[in-house]
Amino acid sequence: QFAQAFQNLQRCAAASERVFGFLEEPEMSDETDKPALLGRDPKTGKAERVRGDVEFRHVSFGYEPGRPIIHDFSASVKAGQKIAIVGPTGAGKSTMVNLLMRFYDIDGGSMTIDGIDTSTVPRANVHEQFSMVLQDTWVFRGTVKENVAYDKKGVTDKQIEDACKAVGLDHYVRSLPQGYDTVLDDNSSLSQGQRQLLTIARAMVQDAPILILDEATSSVDTRTEELIQKAMDELTVGRTSFVIAHRLSTIRDADMILVMNHGDVVERGTHEELLRRGGFYADLYNSQFTSLVA
Ligand code: ADP
Repeated sequence: QFAQAFQNLQRCAAASERVFGFLEEPEMSDETDKPALLGRDPKTGKAERVRGDVEFRHVSFGYEPGRPIIHDFSASVKAGQKIAIVGPTGAGKSTMVNLLMRFYDIDGGSMTIDGIDTSTVPRANVHEQFSMVLQDTWVFRGTVKENVAYDKKGVTDKQIEDACKAVGLDHYVRSLPQGYDTVLDDNSSLSQGQRQLLTIARAMVQDAPILILDEATSSVDTRTEELIQKAMDELTVGRTSFVIAHRLSTIRDADMILVMNHGDVVERGTHEELLRRGGFYADLYNSQFTSLVA
């Protein structure tokens, strides 16, 4: 009787594995026609790293039907490039990021990552390709290790320590009572700058090929700002990055600056090109000079 029950159990387990496997995959027409997935070799299905080429083709979008805000936007971003997005509050910077990560579906046109149309793959598969470093840093109740590893599976202590070293946080963490095993929570005595660095270390460990960086506007001292900038620079190496930029230092060396206003992209180019053009960006730059704070 026991053997029979065990056999039934095994059959159930196998069946549920098949069901869950099926739910996670998009529809397939037949064996030879496997659906494309980001980060999978289309032939073998093996995991491979996304390069991070991003293409927008004639994208249009509005939050409400009949009220488009992004009109016919096209742009080609090569793997590893840095794109800065600037503009006043309400200009559409967050909208651009929301579309990129497919939090909203676009109304017209297409967006691809490594040539794969992101509307044809599961949303989770798109999200996996991104790490975000946002202004609102968050620390949850857990050890330093857990805070850095976050939801990434199989992270080694060495990877965590390497990330903390790279952002200049290792020394501080070692000075804590239990080092990397010290329990943090949202009320911990970490400074705003240290929280930023921890978030950058977290993104390093996540190791996604595309980054969304929303620069902090909160005032940190110059030394901390330098540390954060250095850590961000380190993080962006070899990754395509979209930076919601508030400071000129980020913008000067960007491969492309998207200037947004009233929800749409109104100008684009490098810092020099945009200054020469003498348009909206040049005005923004001249009026605020050291800060493009939105
Ligand atoms: P930014 O990030 O540059 O401050 P947003 O992308 O948040 O600008 O906003 C761009 C425009 O879209 C604004 O007019 C804003 O009011 C509008 N908007 C943003 N989010 C929503 C939403 N969820 N529903 C409707 N309109 C929105």
